[in-house]
Amino acid sequence: MEDYKDDLDSVISSAKNKGVTHIITVGIDLQSSLNAISIAKKYKNLYASVGIHPHNASRINDQDYKALATMTCDKSNKIVAYGEIGLDYVKKYSPPEKQKYQFQAQLAMAKDLHLPVIIHDRGAHSDTIKLLKNIAPFPAGGVMHCFSGDMNLALQVLELGFYISIPGIVTFTNAKELHEVAHEIPLDRLVLETDGPFLAPVPFRGKRNLPEYLGITAARIAELRNISVDEVGDTTSRNAKQLFRLQ
Ligand SMILES: [Zn+2]
Repeated sequence: MEDYKDDLDSVISSAKNKGVTHIITVGIDLQSSLNAISIAKKYKNLYASVGIHPHNASRINDQDYKALATMTCDKSNKIVAYGEIGLDYVKKYSPPEKQKYQFQAQLAMAKDLHLPVIIHDRGAHSDTIKLLKNIAPFPAGGVMHCFSGDMNLALQVLELGFYISIPGIVTFTNAKELHEVAHEIPLDRLVLETDGPFLAPVPFRGKRNLPEYLGITAARIAELRNISVDEVGDTTSRNAKQLFRLQ
């Protein structure tokens, strides 16, 4: 995202100093996927994902897909996942029918490429689950990023073999459903994310989010589960390494 273009070096080194050992930077269209690759190539322990976000679903064609598939075949691009892909019925920047069509096409493509999928689901729980179930199983796995549902949805996501990713929202006092999910789901299926520049945890709510704040999110989950923050950090790092097959 543009928000980091002026101080990317210091954002990444501050994260490292705060104990964030690995970062995945995510593509949302063709250009940002290329940007993600070039950032991943520049920094150690940084990896890329590529894909077309539902916001951009009405602006892609077969050639874009071919370009994305070609990128994933080059090992030096450090691409560890396909996404963000999914459905967004809150913003509806693209018509839902188009979103569904492109979501299915990309799920199938990610499967062919043997890549784990990063799923974006905002206000579209039932269609998202329905399409995922249609195309399951996913041998390379996946993650529901910025999980925003209740325990019932969480159980369906877990049943697909997916991980659940929890952002800084878990630090908000009114996020009761997410507190329950963070408390209830098996720790070995939980991963953490920044989703920068959005969703900064308290006390930085509303400001630019930074990967160095990930420890705040981890600390809140530790508190909800009544375990140590080290256990949350170690387990979620292990989970992410396993899902994305990081070295
Ligand atoms: Zn998203």
